[in-house]
Amino acid sequence: MNSSDPRLAQLTTNLSHVRRRMQSACERVGRPSDSVRLVAVTKTIPVDAMHIFLTVLGADATHPADFGENRPQQLASRAQELAGSAIHWHFIGHLQRNKVDLAVAHASLVHSVDSERLLQALNAEAGKAGRTLPVLLEVNVSGEAQKDGFAPADLEARFELLARQPHLDIQGLMTMAPLAEDPELARPTFRGLRALRDRLAARSLPGLTLPHLSMGMSGDFEVAIEEGATLVRVGSALWEDLPTSF
Ligand SMILES: *Cc1c(COP(=O)(O)O)cnc(C)c1O
Repeated sequence: MNSSDPRLAQLTTNLSHVRRRMQSACERVGRPSDSVRLVAVTKTIPVDAMHIFLTVLGADATHPADFGENRPQQLASRAQELAGSAIHWHFIGHLQRNKVDLAVAHASLVHSVDSERLLQALNAEAGKAGRTLPVLLEVNVSGEAQKDGFAPADLEARFELLARQPHLDIQGLMTMAPLAEDPELARPTFRGLRALRDRLAARSLPGLTLPHLSMGMSGDFEVAIEEGATLVRVGSALWEDLPTSF
């Protein structure tokens, strides 16, 4: 990379645009802007663009970048390629139980624990690796048949039992809103996740304050922030108009 790389200017513009949109959403509902973290979903961009984006972010040991990947093999290969860079890796995709070792080895936070069997497999693998793994439980708030995640009623009924995983730190909930042109259509899903989190947190189970809500993507992150998101997972809005050859 050099300073004339046109991707540097484009990424700088895109990041400041996304940050401005995040800040406006915070202001609309009276939240401090540092109450929401931007997870940059890097699944579609090449590793050299990730290097440039690290420069744009000014990532360092005290302010590591938050990068999200949705395939375990790509998470592992990129974590190895970018070893030494200040990055917190977020795993945000569907995880098969035979790949839990990759998530446990590399992820700072797994957003997408979508079943009891996966929860138990991650707990067992984290125990083997001698670490406590931070995770979020993915909830299918919208109830779409093709979506992964816990059914809200099921999670509420069985939460005490499910949450008993000594090698996991369950930090909150994650959801995906139905795909729609109008971001307002995502609001009930985000509001539902927030309400579910509030009900679970009100049980005051030890170690289960559930501070995090991972919700909102490029098309709907402002609505998600208005509804209480603490982590937004943004890809395409950060990478738009990125020159591919120069
Ligand atoms: C790809 C992806 C995102 C980011 O989507 P954009 O619309 O590109 O911002 C967020 N969350 C998950 C789970 C994803 O797979």
